[in-house]
Amino acid sequence: MSNNDCLFCKFVSGEISVTKLAENDGAIAFADINPQAPVHVLVIPKMHVADVTELSAHPDELEQVMELAARVAKQHDLSGGYRLVFNTGADAGQSVFHAHAHVLGGRSLQWPPG
Ligand code: AMP
Ligand code: ZN
Repeated sequence: MSNNDCLFCKFVSGEISVTKLAENDGAIAFADINPQAPVHVLVIPKMHVADVTELSAHPDELEQVMELAARVAKQHDLSGGYRLVFNTGADAGQSVFHAHAHVLGGRSLQWPPG
């Protein structure tokens, strides 16, 4: 399932090239173009769903996203800690409506977030 107008679907299909940092059957990981931390990787399901609410209806794909996010954190040696963020909807500032997990780390992260 993909969406013709979706940037991240084009990364999945290869229509727009992206350097994959990691991949499994259901998800890919690539660097965020506007990094907010020394490590800022996006992990997306290969299936088009708008956000993590929709993704939660697909447990296999959700598990693949989580597996890959954990692997990315390990690959980047984020043993000191990292943050996994799914911005969801306008109030959270979601700007790309293909579900994605931000893996953020490599510096001390503030709480609460802005
Ligand atoms: P959000 O605001 O949670 O929807 O996150 C969308 C993220 O996608 C932002 O952090 C953007 O920097 C990132 N982004 C947008 N376009 C690209 C792109 N072409 N390649 C990599 N990351 C992108
Ligand atoms: Zn999409």
